Amino acid sequence: MKTVSLTLDEIYDLAKRTLAFNGCDETNAESVSRTVCRAERDGSISHGLFRIPGYVASLRSKKVNGKAKPKIEELTQNAIRVDGDYGFAPIAINTGIPALVKITKKFGVGVLTITNTHHFAALWPETEALAEEDLIGIACTAYKPSVAPAGAKKPLFGTNPISFAWPRPGKTPAVYDMATATMALGEVQVAARDGHKVPLGTGLNKEGELTTNPSEIANGGVLLPFGGYKGSAISMMIELLSAGLVGDLFSFEAKEEDNNDGGPARGGEFIMSMSPELIAGKDWHVHAEKFFEQMLSLDGVRLPGQRRHTNRLSNEPRNINKELVEKIKELFS
Ligand code: NDP
Repeated sequence: MKTVSLTLDEIYDLAKRTLAFNGCDETNAESVSRTVCRAERDGSISHGLFRIPGYVASLRSKKVNGKAKPKIEELTQNAIRVDGDYGFAPIAINTGIPALVKITKKFGVGVLTITNTHHFAALWPETEALAEEDLIGIACTAYKPSVAPAGAKKPLFGTNPISFAWPRPGKTPAVYDMATATMALGEVQVAARDGHKVPLGTGLNKEGELTTNPSEIANGGVLLPFGGYKGSAISMMIELLSAGLVGDLFSFEAKEEDNNDGGPARGGEFIMSMSPELIAGKDWHVHAEKFFEQMLSLDGVRLPGQRRHTNRLSNEPRNINKELVEKIKELFS
């Protein structure tokens, strides 16, 4: 794979210029570009510049409102809703998080429901934003069907990611962010693009047989949930929280509504936060650190999030797929 070297500022500018050229206003272009740039900074490459052609496709097809002005509404003393005004998710999330932090610090528990958005990003930005405020964050979202529930050969669930962040004052949080499919569809697409095989058990081809060829899974095949029926149950929970509870589209409904422009389908997101200080007491972090000490004393163990947090420390330029950069440049000419 040929690459070009881009600084983080160049990555941000490339994303912002492309989004602005294709219909985003300044605030929306900034929110999405920051999300894209942070993904590249952390090495979450399937949610960095790789997503720009999809973002642009849905701006061009007018599915997504590039000038969205999300509105915030109080549902109960502990729950708020942000209506994303049919824009991309980052601006709706940025609108809701400060209010979520405020109610969680007051009442101990808070729920933020995000509706009418198009989510095409990783979820760690929202859970880490909560952890930076010394709160526990949980977030999940559903997507168009690409995963077969345990026992089935046809898709019903999205790749349905879930992220959990535990704050560690003075340190980066322990944070996982994972698709409940064996692999995120973006990763399967990157593997197909780069000519890599995927492990057997990742998905089925269109005949319903196991395959290691990512193209066969991405084109007419189906992904499987991680961990068989256990991952399938978690994926079901994500559908119920991010669509049933939030009051937005289940994956199967998102598919019916989507125009298949290659960009993100419409959907909602469930975000919950808890204050360990209000719930466990003021020494919560001293207690939790004892657990982390035990965990990290075991050979071979690292905390989830550590790979990204280590990548984050480098200000060096990132190597980006050359073909992708050329493709993006064609989107604003
Ligand atoms: P991975 O399988 O790469 O990683 C999942 C989690 O496991 C990460 O938090 C990772 O931390 C951690 N991890 C990996 N290896 C280890 C290890 N050896 N020890 C401890 N922890 C480890 O992620 P996925 O491919 O499942 O998902 C990728 C991204 O795709 C996610 O950010 C997800 O939000 C996103 N996604 C978004 C969708 C959407 O609709 N918006 C749909 C589906 C997925 P680390 O990062 O530090 O390696």
